[in-house]
Amino acid sequence: MKLTPDYFQIDDLLSEEHKLVRQSVRDWVDSRLKPVIDDYSQRHEFPSFIVKELGKLGAFGPYIPEEYGGAGLDHTSYGLIMQELERGDSSIRSVASVQSSLVMYPIYTFGSENQKKKYLPQLAAGEMLGAFGLTEPNHGSDPGSMETKIIDKGDYYLLNGAKMWITNSPIADIAVVWAKDEEGIVRGLIIEKGMEGFTAPETHNKWSLRASVTGELVFDNVKIPKENILPNIQGLKGPMMCLNSARYGIAWGVVGAAIDCYSTALQYSLERKQFDKPIASFQLQQKKLAEIVTEITKAQLVVWRLGTLRDKDQAKPTQISMAKRNNVEMALNVARESRQILGAMGISGDFPIMRHMMNLESVVTYEGTHDVHLLITGLDITGIPAFK
Ligand SMILES: Cc1cc2nc3c(=O)[nH]c(=O)nc-3n(C[C@H](O)[C@H](O)[C@H](O)COP(=O)(O)OP(=O)(O)OC[C@H]3O[C@@H](n4cnc5c(N)ncnc54)[C@H](O)[C@@H]3O)c2cc1C
Repeated sequence: MKLTPDYFQIDDLLSEEHKLVRQSVRDWVDSRLKPVIDDYSQRHEFPSFIVKELGKLGAFGPYIPEEYGGAGLDHTSYGLIMQELERGDSSIRSVASVQSSLVMYPIYTFGSENQKKKYLPQLAAGEMLGAFGLTEPNHGSDPGSMETKIIDKGDYYLLNGAKMWITNSPIADIAVVWAKDEEGIVRGLIIEKGMEGFTAPETHNKWSLRASVTGELVFDNVKIPKENILPNIQGLKGPMMCLNSARYGIAWGVVGAAIDCYSTALQYSLERKQFDKPIASFQLQQKKLAEIVTEITKAQLVVWRLGTLRDKDQAKPTQISMAKRNNVEMALNVARESRQILGAMGISGDFPIMRHMMNLESVVTYEGTHDVHLLITGLDITGIPAFK
């Protein structure tokens, strides 16, 4: 019985370094996260100890060069790290995704040398936590219509507006925020905690990603020093490139959540007896398990190929979009089927499945909803935009 499926021998395609990276994160998840994550989720509390430990583990910005505090790893390694973290919990993978793809990536890609030196080593080490502000109360799937604005005041920019549904916001030291200038051009800014007029209230009562903190970013005449603007990007392309990197990590991450559901259901089905037999001996349960392992295998092949393309800088945003959509839907279906295999026990916090299932309800919505990703593929294959 193999609890971590590798039906198509994808391990043969990984390097020794890939396997070492995966193993070190897997060990951390098994020893440090799994024993406590259900309690934190039930209490709707963020396990703050993870931030420094993920930094030590090299899970923040693993593909950022070593001179800025990163590990200089390839994107397949980044994917494997996300997969292992999400085997533990999507909240924890979300924290690593935001820090890596939505905060470190834009500072590294669009930032000045000073910004890179000032923020990246601390972010990589987990001494600083970041947030990413794109979504607004009135603009989610359509961020191009954002209302948050900066006005050039000569020595500084004046920032006004609000962002909503922002991972890490109440506990973040900095936030990469997207706002329009007076000409309507989207610009990226680095906002620091404590700036006058800036608040980050928490969003309460989530039924999903309960071990991650979500909140708002509210800007009321905040004076932003000019050196805090990201100099090397203008337009919606900036946040979209960040989302592309994060979506890539999600496509890998959710495979981890699906594997955790599958291995839990397989083990349970072999141990649980009804009608004097293990439930794994019933054809209906075998059908579920066989379909689950098939879907996980297909998703594993998609992300492995996507990783090799991204390592050559050839992965197209449309390919990443398809992988994110397909794999999140796969993981949600796996979670739902696995939960049924456990019967009543499937809803208990003694097992991780219900937690994964609730988490995945956020993952299917953030970083582009399932519908929006369908429209992206639709546009790609027909040439006709159906967004409006
Ligand atoms: C837990 C959590 C954490 C998050 N973290 C962050 C973060 O750190 N930073 C950040 O900026 N954002 C974050 N988000 C926000 C997330 O990215 C948005 O929720 C997402 O983009 C969808 O926007 P919306 O919720 O406003 O939904 P809407 O855009 O209002 O969509 C509602 C529904 O309408 C559908 N829809 C919209 N447009 C179309 C269309 N053209 N055609 C067909 N259907 C359409 C959608 O698919 C969806 O089903 C987070 C969200 C959650 C739940």
